[in-house]
Amino acid sequence: MISQFINAAKAKFSFLASVLVVLSAYTALPTQAASGQTTEELEQAVREDPHSFSAHFKLGRAMMDAGRFRKAEENFLACTLLNPKSNSGRFGMAEVYEHTGKFADAILVYKQILSRQPVSEIDQYRVQLAMERLSYYHSLGDANSPQYVFSNDFSDKHGWKKTAFPLRVAIWSDPELKELKEPFRQDVVRAFERWQIASGGKTTFKIVSDQRSADIVCKLVRVMRGSKHGAIGDKAGETALQWDDSSDDIVKWSRIEIFWDERYNLVKLEACVLHEVGHALGLNHSSNPHDIMFPLAHPPYAAILSERDKNSMKAIYAN
Ligand SMILES: [Zn+2]
Repeated sequence: MISQFINAAKAKFSFLASVLVVLSAYTALPTQAASGQTTEELEQAVREDPHSFSAHFKLGRAMMDAGRFRKAEENFLACTLLNPKSNSGRFGMAEVYEHTGKFADAILVYKQILSRQPVSEIDQYRVQLAMERLSYYHSLGDANSPQYVFSNDFSDKHGWKKTAFPLRVAIWSDPELKELKEPFRQDVVRAFERWQIASGGKTTFKIVSDQRSADIVCKLVRVMRGSKHGAIGDKAGETALQWDDSSDDIVKWSRIEIFWDERYNLVKLEACVLHEVGHALGLNHSSNPHDIMFPLAHPPYAAILSERDKNSMKAIYAN
């Protein structure tokens, strides 16, 4: 699982008057193709051969994908004990810590990987990307504050003008993805509805068919397996925002692109849409993995707004 990640520089929301800003969600994808086996089958395989590195690793990945992080951690630890020379289990454990907000523990594991000799170039590179990610989360501030938009710090608060509502939203999907057209449309509508409720009813919208006159265009596009949209990872979605000429706190228009990869599923699509619509309405990233606005999409990809997500959206449109 080569990382998957966030280009921190792009997310510097603040200093970019009238300039296009691109915020993205990235997704963790295992390097190994999914085994196609259920977690029960993989557990059975471990019971039959408790000394098998590969059985533990596959089970660790499957547990990770299911969002069962403690089980994932156990199995990755077993990998490390069974084969101390391999870093695969260590990377798995660090990923668990990243997804559960235990960033200090993740850093310890990455340092441990670097301290082992010899360390391959690819492992060094993976650690470097991970460290950039962790420092980016750190820059996003306290993961336990009631909200991640601070109304007393206007540099961190951006949104649409009151007069822009209801926002005109156009939806488009790649004709090659026609089986996803309707699910995608529903996800977009539902995402706007949920954020509207979170905002206290402020962020009203209406669906329009003409993209040119729309304030926000949401697109579903296809990517080929293994393609990379970001400099350092697999990008799941991207939101571009343009500020009003008069103020870099006011959003003038926004464009969302969701990158569909055949390895994704509908649950992941829904979570990704909810995340990107959050950006389009003015939210930056959160450093708490329980928030939908955490930059790294993570298992089990539940499309749920946390209290912090709701509070933050409400804060943008509070006045
Ligand atoms: Zn994002």
